[in-house]
Amino acid sequence: MIVEKMKGFGTTRSCIRELFEYGLKQAAIVGKENVFDFSLGNPSVPTPEGVANVIRDLLEMDTLTLHGYTPAAGAANTRMAIAGDLSRRSGDDIRPENIFVTCGAAPGITATMNALAEEGDEIMLLAPYFPEYPAYASLTGAKLVIVPADTEHFQLKIDEVEKRITPHTQIIIVNSPNNPSGVIYSVETLTALAEVMIRKSQEYGHPIYIISDEPYRELVYDGEDTPYLPAIYPNTVICYSYSKSLSMPGERIGYVCVPDCCENSKDLFAAIAGAARAIGHVCAPSLLQQVIARCTDLRPDLSAYDLNRTTLYNELTAIGYHCIKPKGAFYMLVEAPDGNSLAFSERAKAHNVLIVPTDDFGCPGFVRISTCVSHDMLVRSIPLFRTIWEEYQQ
Ligand code: PLP
Repeated sequence: MIVEKMKGFGTTRSCIRELFEYGLKQAAIVGKENVFDFSLGNPSVPTPEGVANVIRDLLEMDTLTLHGYTPAAGAANTRMAIAGDLSRRSGDDIRPENIFVTCGAAPGITATMNALAEEGDEIMLLAPYFPEYPAYASLTGAKLVIVPADTEHFQLKIDEVEKRITPHTQIIIVNSPNNPSGVIYSVETLTALAEVMIRKSQEYGHPIYIISDEPYRELVYDGEDTPYLPAIYPNTVICYSYSKSLSMPGERIGYVCVPDCCENSKDLFAAIAGAARAIGHVCAPSLLQQVIARCTDLRPDLSAYDLNRTTLYNELTAIGYHCIKPKGAFYMLVEAPDGNSLAFSERAKAHNVLIVPTDDFGCPGFVRISTCVSHDMLVRSIPLFRTIWEEYQQ
């Protein structure tokens, strides 16, 4: 018997993918230069040069060692390098034993969800949220509880979180810098969230964990920083990915960190290892683990993303659009002029401008514009955004 739920995930495309594929078809008709594709979150700055150099050197290594299985949690030197890097940037004392190396953030989040929640439990998503979370959570059998967005500042509506925490709540997913808003949750916001979660954990007699999904941690602008969440809320599991920070999403490498401050951290680590095994994890790609062991201190060149971010924000607000100024990641939210995000996306599509309605992010009324695109394309799209705006004024 084919499992309908899984068939559903396999046959329904996300609206992001749908737009992207539409763009490819349209490019064949009207020419690539006439399609303004802002749909995907595929990094547009090159992978740091140091990565290519390390890969070249690694190819001289003994191939059986380089390409062989590693321990499920990762090669010892990789876990050591990641732990050292995370300790330096957080001031926390992270040990290799806290690190489980994964094939990117997606399987790390999936394994952590499966380690912490099962049927009868609840997992809380804070809108706007990454639309893949429901698929990641699907094997747990847990119910998803959605907290509506703060559509003014795109911080968190703490009172709405509190109202929705029940004795069944096991996990709250926090994603900052946020996809799709580009907003970084402030220390004040995270402290308020922590206070509620500590109170509710005590009331219900079990820890409620945060999964901190942070693939955009280093992609921050204007001197901003991404707060280290375990220092604010100890029961935090970090799911990290090198997809965005080192511009290599196709290589599939990241990690889960269960800090010692997490309640039952050793058991939780073991459950995450078990859950990873249950979804078919053997080990992260060995070559990439050796790359990471040597590249944890490389940082992305953010200047191109920053230029796109400021250009788009300044140009669109000058036209009249209401935009949420991003402080991180490479996305910007723009309010639909008449509040209808689907219609806004369709209207833009008629001009070959591909922007993603935020309905699937649990926050209708906006579109997401990915700013990880060529600057030239972004600049050439501005007159079209003006035309679209004028159409709304008629
Ligand atoms: N979480 C968020 C918020 C993302 O935006 C993405 C990818 O775009 C992921 C998780 C998945 O990351 P990865 O490619 O490392 O699996």
